Amino acid sequence: MGQSRGLENMEKPMQRLDDCFSLSKRDEACELCGGGEFQLVGCKDRRGQPLTTVLCTTCGLISHEALPTDAELDAYYSRQYRIDYHGEFLPSPRRVLRAWGVGQSILQRLRPFVRERDRILEIGAGIGCTVKSFEMAGYDAQGIEPHHGFQEFARKHLGARVTRCTLADLPDREKFDVVLLVHVIEHFNHPRRELRRIVRLLNPGGRLYVECPNAEAPHAAPGKMFHFAHVYNFTNRTLAMLAKANGLACQAMVFEPHHPLIGQVYRMSSSIGTEIDSDSYSRSVAALTRYNTLTYHARPAYLADRLRRAGVHVGERLFARWRLSKLLARLHAAELRHPANVRRVA
Ligand SMILES: [Zn+2]
Repeated sequence: MGQSRGLENMEKPMQRLDDCFSLSKRDEACELCGGGEFQLVGCKDRRGQPLTTVLCTTCGLISHEALPTDAELDAYYSRQYRIDYHGEFLPSPRRVLRAWGVGQSILQRLRPFVRERDRILEIGAGIGCTVKSFEMAGYDAQGIEPHHGFQEFARKHLGARVTRCTLADLPDREKFDVVLLVHVIEHFNHPRRELRRIVRLLNPGGRLYVECPNAEAPHAAPGKMFHFAHVYNFTNRTLAMLAKANGLACQAMVFEPHHPLIGQVYRMSSSIGTEIDSDSYSRSVAALTRYNTLTYHARPAYLADRLRRAGVHVGERLFARWRLSKLLARLHAAELRHPANVRRVA
C-alpha cells in the first residue's frame, strides 16, 4: 500500500478556460451537488452513436444529459450489456483469465483493509473471480450479479457464492464488514441513492471499496470516453465528494491520481454533508480537454501499452483454454480439500 495517499496530496489541476463548452438544457438537478447548470461536453458515444454528456458547472460531475430510468437499466443489464460491450453471453476463456488476474490484484490491494473474520460482499460480481479469490484466501466472501450467464458461470464453474440479484433486492438486515464495488458505480443512474443502500448494509466499522475508470487519466481516446453503460465519469474529487455526502470518509486511494483507475477505500464517518471542492470543476474541465486525438495517440505511454497488449493478446489466443482448464482444476482440487467451501456454495 505504499502508493496509498490522501486527497490533499494530489497535484494541482491544469488551468483552463471555464467557458470552453456550451450550456445544456437539462432540467434534472445534479446528483452530487443539486446544481442546475450544465455544460455540453460530448454528443456521441465511443461508437459514434448519439449520446449527450454534460458537466455540472458547480461540482464538476460528468454524466449523461438524460439519466436512464431504473426500468431501462434493469432491461439493459439483465441480458444486453455483456453482449454489447463484450460480445458474449457466457465468458470466454480469455475473459475468465483476465478476471481472475483482476480478482487476485484486488485481493492483494485490499489485504491491509480486510480482517480475518470479515464478511465480504461484492456488488456486481460478474463471473465471480474476485469473490472466489477472497474465498480461496480464507475470507467469508460472496457476491451478487444481475446477469444470467455470468452468475451461472460463477456458481457452476468457479463454485463462487454469487447470487443473481441486484443491490435493491438485498434486505437491510443483511450486514457486511466489507463491500466491494468494482466498475459498478459509474453504471448507476442514481449513485447517491445506491451508496445510501450500501451504507445500510455495513456493520459498524465497515469499509467500502470503490473502483472505477478515472476521467482524469488517459484511459480512452478523446471521442471514445463516453458510452451508454457509463452514466457517470468520475474524478477522484467527484467520487470522494459523493461518498462523503453519504457519510463515507475516504481512508485511502490505492492508485496514483493519474492512474487509469480510481480506487478509494472508505470508512463510515459521523460527518455527512455535501462539500464542494473549489477546484473540482476546473479539474474536470482539464480532464476533458487535456488531449486531442493526435496528442493522445502520440504519447510514448500509449504506444508502449499497445505493444504490450498485442503481446498479451497473442499469448491469450494460444494458451487461454489450457490455462483456464488448469485454473478450474486447481479450484476444484481446493474445494475437495476443504469441504466447508463446498457446503457454503451449495
Ligand atoms: Zn454538481
